[in-house]
Amino acid sequence: MKIGVLGLQGAVREHIKHIEQTGHEGIVIKTVNQLNEIDGLVLPGGESTTMRRLMDLYGFTELLRNSELPMYGTCAGLILLAKAVVGQESHLNKLNVVVERNSFGRQVDSFEQDLDVKGIDEAVNAVFIRAPHIQSAHEGVEVLSTVEDRIVAVRQNQYLGISFHPELTDDYKIMKYFIEEIVEQYQVKQPQ
Ligand code: GLN
Repeated sequence: MKIGVLGLQGAVREHIKHIEQTGHEGIVIKTVNQLNEIDGLVLPGGESTTMRRLMDLYGFTELLRNSELPMYGTCAGLILLAKAVVGQESHLNKLNVVVERNSFGRQVDSFEQDLDVKGIDEAVNAVFIRAPHIQSAHEGVEVLSTVEDRIVAVRQNQYLGISFHPELTDDYKIMKYFIEEIVEQYQVKQPQ
């Protein structure tokens, strides 16, 4: 599989490394034309407002809103995928969830913990940095993981949203899940 990582801002290289660790090809996406070359897209962590500004500038926003490409967002990437963001406008409207930004406190309150994630056999090593959480999940959304009653991982069809940063650890199990359970399965179901 060829998996792109939106390369406008944020933790891009780290995701590329995880894609390569799963044995697939990782491509840094800087222009909209490159979207035609890939089977799935990762939206990295970083700063969602900055990423949105750059996405508008380079023509990504409308295209991705209308695209059926499988997408996986971590942290700021999850904010980009949500249908609603508390206190501000939404971005790509892919996941039927309401997210709240910076809901795990400030930078100094960042933490790491082992998490059970539905669909993944072993616990996942999760790093939370000024992470958003999913305040509510609505029709069509499957909750994959929670931390003290807060939803931190969801899936809706070919879209996956995670509020923490798997890419900042050596644990690439979620990337493997995205590529093998979501992107590959999505392709199998596409009409020829
Ligand atoms: N707080 C950031 C935002 O709102 C997300 C944090 C992150 O990606 N580490 O975009």
